[in-house]
Amino acid sequence: MATKKIIKFKPNIMKKLKNMGIILVIILGCFIYYRIQINDLKKIGYSEKAATNIFFKWKKEEVLALGKNKTLNKAFESPEYKEKNFDSYSKIKYTDDKYVISNINNLIKRGYTNEEITMILNHGSGEDVREFAKRKKVRYLEEFYSIDYARIKYYDRYVKYMDEAREDEETSVLLVNLDMDKNEYEDPIIIKNFSYTMLVNKHRKLEKNYIPKNLVTINEEDATDKGMKLNRTAYIAFKQMKKAAEKEGYHLLINSAYRSYQDQEEIAATYLDLYGSAYVDKYVLKPGFSEHQTGLSFDVASADTNIFANSDEYKWIVDNCYKFGFIYRFKKEYENMTGIRHEAWHYRYVGKKIAKEIYEKDLSLEEYYAMNL
Ligand SMILES: [Zn+2]
Repeated sequence: MATKKIIKFKPNIMKKLKNMGIILVIILGCFIYYRIQINDLKKIGYSEKAATNIFFKWKKEEVLALGKNKTLNKAFESPEYKEKNFDSYSKIKYTDDKYVISNINNLIKRGYTNEEITMILNHGSGEDVREFAKRKKVRYLEEFYSIDYARIKYYDRYVKYMDEAREDEETSVLLVNLDMDKNEYEDPIIIKNFSYTMLVNKHRKLEKNYIPKNLVTINEEDATDKGMKLNRTAYIAFKQMKKAAEKEGYHLLINSAYRSYQDQEEIAATYLDLYGSAYVDKYVLKPGFSEHQTGLSFDVASADTNIFANSDEYKWIVDNCYKFGFIYRFKKEYENMTGIRHEAWHYRYVGKKIAKEIYEKDLSLEEYYAMNL
């Protein structure tokens, strides 16, 4: 006779299952609690990684009270996070680079205040700041770095220039940014990329093989000679300017435009034969250092008189060229900046917007460049 087997759990198994259930509920509850905490932080802008670390470092309430803070977010994402620097992270303005947290830690170690650290981070790349943080605390931070365009990596050059040239901080920053603390032609920056705002001068040269794009041949009726070339956009702007000048009775002609590196070599050789080396060193640019190689500059002549500075065209172009995107490049007042003696005849295309700003603020291209680019 078959007997029906009734499976009966032993009481201790039941108990175990019950305990497991309780544990599961607790785990689930903890998980839900954890997700809610993380989501509270994510909701105000913290990343998953930062929020997780904030939670496990028991900083949630403090962080929530501070609200969204990019530097804190980065600090909590970083393995470099230091508990003792929490307050500084929350006060230092964020800059977007991979070294920001280690840089902040190092600058705190050097004794800089939060405001000073914000200032330092603002004036250089992460790499520059990393180098800067290796040195002892510097003396003139506010003096130089309250100037927008001062760069952290030039600190020593600013100090040296200020001492030697007895210039004020602002002038020192401006001139050092332009490499004017170096001798002319010494250790120049090589300019490789074409742009309408490119700066070529005695500290910034173009190489032998540099030929600007979009050179076009200037029409005979616009120039004093055949075969001259200019950047297409600059030439179109010149033609518009010429037309506008003609309407008012002035006659502009291009006297010289693009000059290749080889052209510059020939010019230097010719002047050397004619006037000797003292003259050439003083008045003739070394090959590669002439803005004419950019294709954006031209010398202008008046159709009515030989000396352009005496012409009515000169008076007209000085106050009108900016409307067409040109600047009066080598003004008398800019000699210290440009390193070039006054040239009434030389104009340079930079585009209308910048030409207008340069005209209205009465800046050399060097100053505009140091401040903005
Ligand atoms: Zn010129």
